[in-house]
Amino acid sequence: MCTVPRGTAVSTTAPRLELATIVRRYGDAYRRTHRLARVQRRALHAIETCRTAALGGHRKTCDHCDGVRLTYNSCRNRHCPKCQTLVKERWLAARRADLLPIPYFHVVFTLPHSLNALAQGNPRVLYTLLFRAAADTLLTFGRDARHLGGTIGITAILHTWGQNPSQHLHLHCLVTGGALAADGSQWIAGRSSFLFPVRALSTVFRAKYLAGLQRVYAAGALTFAGGTAHLASPRAFTGFLGQLRAIDWIVYAKRPFAGPEQVLNLGRYTHRVVLSMIASSSIATGASGSAGRTTPTMTA
Ligand SMILES: [Zn+2]
Ligand SMILES: [Zn+2]
Repeated sequence: MCTVPRGTAVSTTAPRLELATIVRRYGDAYRRTHRLARVQRRALHAIETCRTAALGGHRKTCDHCDGVRLTYNSCRNRHCPKCQTLVKERWLAARRADLLPIPYFHVVFTLPHSLNALAQGNPRVLYTLLFRAAADTLLTFGRDARHLGGTIGITAILHTWGQNPSQHLHLHCLVTGGALAADGSQWIAGRSSFLFPVRALSTVFRAKYLAGLQRVYAAGALTFAGGTAHLASPRAFTGFLGQLRAIDWIVYAKRPFAGPEQVLNLGRYTHRVVLSMIASSSIATGASGSAGRTTPTMTA
């Protein structure tokens, strides 16, 4: 049974201000004044045409009344907020269903900002290393008999941006406050207020990440350009690793005060197209700024 009044055609109602509105209004000017990579051009096109007649659609008629619903096709581009919202909500529902009635901890591994430029040129390699080094570190501590002595469960969420649109690479991990014994016969419960010592986690994480970085460098899997071009030299790269080894890496570990869902909800803030906050707020309020302020900047 549908709730559409008889014989009426209904299209999806759009929120008052959305990214597509901004792209439709300023996209052409932006394209004229900026050199865009192929992925950025495709993302802009996808965002402005998503769920419009340009992508085609279908007409659904209710079996019980004459209600007609027109739905337009989605672009499925990974930078499109409309499409990603659905993907993320499905992911969240599946992760929520995985939750056990046990305490959980929120552990955050942050990469030093001196790795930002290298990550921009090699995102896949550096992000994969972040997942591996963080998971290896947590699993190592979990297996240690001085801590839990078994296999812990981890869900990890990559964030590449902080509160403001500047690069801030960090991995949020939801970690079980207990472990499964090696033979699978029992659950080993941990302490309710403490998981692992953060300073020790930080040291092991740094060592594992830098060992991984050395490996991918030796395998020729890194590309160097622009601000990182000098690191192509083995001597410079070794010096760079030495600098990274000499600083403290930040690891946070606490019980999430609002439960494990609080950490899973951070999965909503991944894959985001970063839009200049000044631009979006001045458009939202109708404020007339200078040309620079009202031109959204887009980083894919
Ligand atoms: Zn879309
Ligand atoms: Zn975050």
